[in-house]
Amino acid sequence: MTKVQATNITWHHGHVCREDREKLLGQKGVTVWLTGLSASGKSTIAYTLEHALMERGHLAYVLDGDNIRHGLNKNLGFSPEDREENIRRIGEVAKLFTDAGAITITSFISPYKGDRDKVRELMAPGDFIEVYVECPVDVCSERDPKGLYKKAMAGEIKNFTGVNAPYETPDKPELVIHSDTCSVQEAAVQLLELLEKAGKIPAPKE
Ligand code: ADP
Repeated sequence: MTKVQATNITWHHGHVCREDREKLLGQKGVTVWLTGLSASGKSTIAYTLEHALMERGHLAYVLDGDNIRHGLNKNLGFSPEDREENIRRIGEVAKLFTDAGAITITSFISPYKGDRDKVRELMAPGDFIEVYVECPVDVCSERDPKGLYKKAMAGEIKNFTGVNAPYETPDKPELVIHSDTCSVQEAAVQLLELLEKAGKIPAPKE
């Protein structure tokens, strides 16, 4: 539980509201939360979706696990407590981006169901779309683009999800992408269709 330290603080409202920003952008703010094992394809799919949205004239932004750990969360490791704080901060940042009207795509293993559920609760109904990028661990460890599975299996990395740390599968994600059987492009199409159905972006003009 995060201890509240600040006192005597007041929420300030600006003159421009979320609806104004959304009207300007021609889209609705949303967080597309990709969760899954390392190398399941979250980042690859996230950046492909971001590009596809940009091509359709939409503002999207990827919050990526490793990138965030270079800056905002550089003081956090991979213990259960630090993972919880990592996701809590990302959740708050994603909420701000969503309020800014952006299609916010997050790419974090986010292995604990409770942490993901807390982010969902933080957001207004419909603002949080949970997407499980499902891929068997043996396929992930074969892909191993960063050589992390090799290191984890050799005992060089502690707390590596899927090898020596748990991953809690989502119960009711809005979408499951089977990245071992569908291509990156197919995954992006599934996500675009989901955003259209949710009313976040309009269907493309004929
Ligand atoms: P994560 O962000 O989940 O750790 P990455 O996107 O960094 O995963 O790495 C996934 C790797 O798997 C990349 O090298 C990507 O090219 C490859 N890959 C193969 N097939 C797929 C697919 N269908 N979807 C996503 N990535 C795939």
